[in-house]
Amino acid sequence: VLEQTNPVHRAKILIEMLNKEREIGEIDKRIGEKTKAAIDENQREYYLREQIKAISNELYGDETADEIDDYHTKIEALKADDSVKEALHLQVNKLAKMPGGSHEGTVVRNYLDTCLELPWNKDTKTQTDVKKAEKILDRDIYGMKKVKERILEMLSVYTLAPDIKGQIICLVGPPGVGKTSIGKTISECMGRKFARISLGGVHDEAEIRGHRKTYIGAMPGKIIDAVKHAGSGNPLILLDEVDKLGSDYKGDPSSALLEVLDPEQNGTFTDNFIEIPYDLSRTVFIATANDAGTIPAPLLDRMEVIEVPSYTREEKFNIAKRHLVKKETLRHGLTGRNFKLTDGAIYCLIDFYTREAGVRRLERTIASLCRKAARLIASGEQKSVTVTEQTAEKMLGHKRYKPEALLEKDSVGIINGLAWTSVGGEIMQLEVAVMDGTGKVELTGSLGDVMKESAMAAVSYVRSNAARLGIDSDFYKNRDIHIHATEAAVPKDGPSAGVTITVGLVSALTGKPVKKDIAMTGEVTIRGRVLPIGGLREKSMAAYRDGIKTVFIPKDNIADLDEVDTVVKENVRFVPVSDVDEIIRCAYSEPDSEKKESPVFTPVIKSPISAGRISQ
Ligand code: ADP
Repeated sequence: VLEQTNPVHRAKILIEMLNKEREIGEIDKRIGEKTKAAIDENQREYYLREQIKAISNELYGDETADEIDDYHTKIEALKADDSVKEALHLQVNKLAKMPGGSHEGTVVRNYLDTCLELPWNKDTKTQTDVKKAEKILDRDIYGMKKVKERILEMLSVYTLAPDIKGQIICLVGPPGVGKTSIGKTISECMGRKFARISLGGVHDEAEIRGHRKTYIGAMPGKIIDAVKHAGSGNPLILLDEVDKLGSDYKGDPSSALLEVLDPEQNGTFTDNFIEIPYDLSRTVFIATANDAGTIPAPLLDRMEVIEVPSYTREEKFNIAKRHLVKKETLRHGLTGRNFKLTDGAIYCLIDFYTREAGVRRLERTIASLCRKAARLIASGEQKSVTVTEQTAEKMLGHKRYKPEALLEKDSVGIINGLAWTSVGGEIMQLEVAVMDGTGKVELTGSLGDVMKESAMAAVSYVRSNAARLGIDSDFYKNRDIHIHATEAAVPKDGPSAGVTITVGLVSALTGKPVKKDIAMTGEVTIRGRVLPIGGLREKSMAAYRDGIKTVFIPKDNIADLDEVDTVVKENVRFVPVSDVDEIIRCAYSEPDSEKKESPVFTPVIKSPISAGRISQ
């Protein structure tokens, strides 16, 4: 400026410079103001917090103030969305205003603690290597080819489309076939944390969805509880025993589960206790059930059912040898060196000490051997224990089951029927006796209405075909008929005993003994047609187990033979029939000289699995 001699120019330069400085000054001022406002806001909050702290300090002592602070810090450290944090901060502020030790304070504290424990967005890294998963499955679970295949398919889909939703598998099978254990193994395959919810006997919606937090003793529901236990935002949750869900006046838990399993809704699952929507969409659900028939229909609709079949003798042997013995040995503090179970002993346990579809009782029997061995070793009596077929009997007591619970010889009016319940198949013997009387038909053995009607249909069929079958056509006037199903205390129902009753009736009326090693199943019409039945796989397994050689099945059930185990098919002859006449033609052995004697009857040892209702 000083170099410039022209005063006008000098003034212009000066003005430009001043303008620039003024603008800079203005920007500076604006920034300064903004910063100050921000600091003021922060200071205000800090100041207020400090004041609240000081006030609560005065009122309730140091602890409460620290606690409030602690809650705020913990909430900030959560990985949750801002809306969740905001809602939680709000609760803390409420808590700050409550007198210490008040009931409401406890409720809010309880609530905050539960919310803080939830794994908001805290996901584990999932495992997507299908080969590795296959290895883990083969390591932990023997057999179950179909189930494993489906699981690997599911995993492959997750590998290609990690965000896929709504793949819910339901494993259906008798108890002890490994449904729960495979669920746990799947979680390991997928690299997800595992949690199990037992739904058996749950009949109150609040058990699924929680109680409002204001109720005394309120808790979150089973779903949120499982998530908390799993401790990750993307766990695998096993819904055990979905078929045992009940419902009563307190609401229907299955409708709450519907929301949980619906991929469209479960992104914002709201528990009554938590109140803030929780995202379940990254959770994998697997359900288990004994009987798909009793799963509430809308739930079943959302799931893909995979049947887990009963095990054959060979499968049980392999499971015991590869898994159960090792597991129990370890559990009881024994080693492979001081405790051994020979192959013969394992077969002996399967044949004589257990009768079940799964392997749970077998596992318990092995555990009991381990306990006895542990006692011998711990007391110093023996250094090591080897259980053989012979020593097993000494250790476990008398054999509980006969390998074949068949009659000792062909008998008149005693026939093997096949029944199945949700816990597996069973042989059920029917007895028919005919005596002089006035044409009464009596039915005993806790038979249900459907089975009684089957018996009436059988009587009508025999009456209308009496002449052809060589039966006195007046039998319904001068004879009384008594039909009895063994294991009288167990209720039985269903139409599939139709053929059994018919064949038994003809046997009793003609005096022809029925072959002892045949069994049959099928509904019968009054014209003698044989209609299809359910549960062929379980029924045929029971027939094989009890030493039956021939099983008559309805022709329409031929397709179901695909499901029947190969071992069973190799040992049992299946004869498809469409008319009961076909069975009558080949079911009887020639009557021998002893036929008039009362039949020798070997009682079937009551199987422990028959405690449920038998559906024929
Ligand atoms: P479920 O849930 O079907 O009633 P569990 O999963 O409780 O049956 O199984 C009972 C026991 O049998 C478990 O200890 C399990 O390890 C064992 N088990 C069943 N099936 C198998 C299998 N295929 N391989 C290995 N162990 C099995």
